Amino acid sequence: MVNECLCIETIEYPVEFKNGTIHTRVECVDCLRFIKWKPQPAKNFKLWFGKHKDKKLCDVPISYLTWYKENGDNEKLLKKIDQFFDSK
Ligand SMILES: [Zn+2]
Repeated sequence: MVNECLCIETIEYPVEFKNGTIHTRVECVDCLRFIKWKPQPAKNFKLWFGKHKDKKLCDVPISYLTWYKENGDNEKLLKKIDQFFDSK
């Protein structure tokens, strides 16, 4: 038990997956044990269609996002846009 790490202090860093999504990896600073994945912040969510394809929400013009909220129909993207606006 002497060397058992309690993993109280953690470090977080973003990792981009092959499919383009970004997750935050949380590790212990002492023993580097993997703790958990945190979902990507909404601002790093990438559009997968349309004229702003492959851009992160934070790089897409706000005018497009507000337009999409009025006119868009993709539930997943609408939810991400809401989260993005809430985090601002
Ligand atoms: Zn640890």
